[in-house]
Amino acid sequence: MQIADNHVVSITYILKDGSGNILDQSDDGRFCYLHGASNIIPGLENALTGKQTGDEMSVSIEPEEGYGVRDDGKMQQVDRKMFPPEQDIEAGMQFHAEGPEGQTIVVTVASVEGDQVTIDGNHPLAGVQLNFNVKVVDIRDATSEELEHGHVHGPEGHAHG
Ligand SMILES: [Zn+2]
Repeated sequence: MQIADNHVVSITYILKDGSGNILDQSDDGRFCYLHGASNIIPGLENALTGKQTGDEMSVSIEPEEGYGVRDDGKMQQVDRKMFPPEQDIEAGMQFHAEGPEGQTIVVTVASVEGDQVTIDGNHPLAGVQLNFNVKVVDIRDATSEELEHGHVHGPEGHAHG
């Protein structure tokens, strides 16, 4: 079976940045996703199309095909009062916020000066070159329910009632 849209694909991977630092990896086994449903970044999804079980590859993905380029327009100053008073706010902290289209985005605290907190709405991997070492472990047809939901179910995927 070759990887194509509407297949559930299991991979193991190591992700490094342009300097060789490990950013992420499938440490305890495998990662499952639904191919063709934008579950993963476009550059990786495109590179996996047509691959077969057992295939291994190294793929280098530019930010445009990864988490996007950095946009300074996503830096914003907000008042310290926007955050819970009991919480220490420090540079580097990350939290979830609602984006302009209602989607969940990760926001990083860039700096804190007095009552002014500068937050960065860029994805933490925006502007970063992504170097994946990927091995295809398994490929199967998605169930009709998985296709309807747009994500993988079962022990290695998403579970809900
Ligand atoms: Zn579901």
